[in-house]
Amino acid sequence: MIKLHDKYFKPFLNETEIQSAVKNIAVKIAVDHKEETPIFIGVLNGAFMFVSDFLKQYQHPCEVSFVKLSSYQGLTSTGIVETLLDLPENIEDRTVIILEDIIDTGRTLKELVHLFSKTNVKEFKIATLFFKSEIYNGEYSIDYVGIDIPDKFIVGYGLDYNELGRNLKEVYQLNQKHMINLVLFGKPGAGKGTQAEFLKEKYNLKHISTGDVFRYNIKNGTELGILAKSYMDKGDLVPDEVTIKMLEDEVDKNLDASGFIFDGFPRTTAQAEALDAFLTIKNMKINATIALEADDEVLIQRLLERGKTSKRPDDQDEGKIRNRFEEYNQKTAPLRAYYEEQGKLHSVDGIGEIDEITRRLSKVIEEL
Ligand code: AMP
Repeated sequence: MIKLHDKYFKPFLNETEIQSAVKNIAVKIAVDHKEETPIFIGVLNGAFMFVSDFLKQYQHPCEVSFVKLSSYQGLTSTGIVETLLDLPENIEDRTVIILEDIIDTGRTLKELVHLFSKTNVKEFKIATLFFKSEIYNGEYSIDYVGIDIPDKFIVGYGLDYNELGRNLKEVYQLNQKHMINLVLFGKPGAGKGTQAEFLKEKYNLKHISTGDVFRYNIKNGTELGILAKSYMDKGDLVPDEVTIKMLEDEVDKNLDASGFIFDGFPRTTAQAEALDAFLTIKNMKINATIALEADDEVLIQRLLERGKTSKRPDDQDEGKIRNRFEEYNQKTAPLRAYYEEQGKLHSVDGIGEIDEITRRLSKVIEEL
């Protein structure tokens, strides 16, 4: 086991396994392309080690270049990818083969394909050393794959955890045994978001608020935002299929977290079931669902008060607030029984000073 920053990683692939996968890719590409002079394009930073070892195995005419992209780590679920080092010149009518260290959801790859779609290359192919086929949701089929790996966060051989670990000759996998994953449960205005802000600092957790992700998308005018707005403005729930997919993307972007606080998700039984199934595949689970209890009339006053400063349309109108409570009673309240059956439901009094409520929540977390 090794430690990088605050996390522990266990051995996953040794040097021999990695080198044989690299050689395999080189042999396959040589079969297809050794009669021409392809341009290999490494995707920085992660692919530098793969490119170097690959070229030692590919002893035929070729050229080498690099591109550098950076995926935006914010709240957006579509992910904005920025080009930091652009395409080489003179690639017209040439065979271009991208060398990637790892392909997971395919977000970066999508941007690469888009970049090259504007050029007149003769042929465009993708080779990746590691491939998470389980979570890949891109349309482009990968031409050469070294090793298909499970959806676990890995470091080493060019891949980093917050910049550490790139120089390791082997690949290590995050040891997720110590993760804490919490669902904060409660009616609108119960204080889930406020408490999550404190708890995420205290326990080093990633806070995912589906409401915040929707609002971020609305602010940025994304397709998802435009769709969500029509439901949110009325105080209705956004359809499950949209919300579940968005939540899964948010988790996938943060698999290096020590745990998650889910705030405002799940809100329906279908969402709760989808969350359990999704976490199980990742060898993770919900440790506790903490319900913040408060009386409807107190909550309505809190929300109307919040609406004066937040300007959220759904907080400024009592009718919309009551509709949100109605949605809660019909669709979300049954989740109590769902988590109670799993022995995970903890009730906490949500009325009182903010720091007193944080103490009540901390007590539950520390006894887990
Ligand atoms: P919140 O900020 O959690 O109060 O959420 C504000 C609004 O976003 C809700 O009234 C819904 O329209 C939408 N929303 C947030 N989370 C979910 C979810 N898990 N399922 C469906 N709609 C959601």
